[in-house]
Amino acid sequence: MPAYDYRCNSCGRKSTLFYKSYKDYDAATAAQSSACPHCGSHDLTRVINRVTIAKPGRNYSSMNSQEMLSVLEGGNSREVGDMFHEVGGDAAASDPAFGEITDRLRKGDAPEKIDRDLGGTTTE
Ligand SMILES: [Zn+2]
Repeated sequence: MPAYDYRCNSCGRKSTLFYKSYKDYDAATAAQSSACPHCGSHDLTRVINRVTIAKPGRNYSSMNSQEMLSVLEGGNSREVGDMFHEVGGDAAASDPAFGEITDRLRKGDAPEKIDRDLGGTTTE
């Protein structure tokens, strides 16, 4: 379940909003229907947090799927890119799209943007 942190521009409080799927998140973002749970304002700014802190030299290949998911949902592109790079070394070499995604993540591109550019290869 995707979860994103927001700061409310109306009351200034931070909150975490949960979405059933990335589709729901996209729809809510497009319609600006996400609301501050404190004051109900729709004037929200997404905050990128390092939800999962990667220690230097973290061994991604030994992570379980739940930990990987938390890195993905942490929204830190470089971290996700590093994880892909480490976990999917062979896949990246044989699949140009995978390699491109990994490269762009490591350069700091937003996963959502890459996903859109590549025609939505990431699904729930
Ligand atoms: Zn508010």
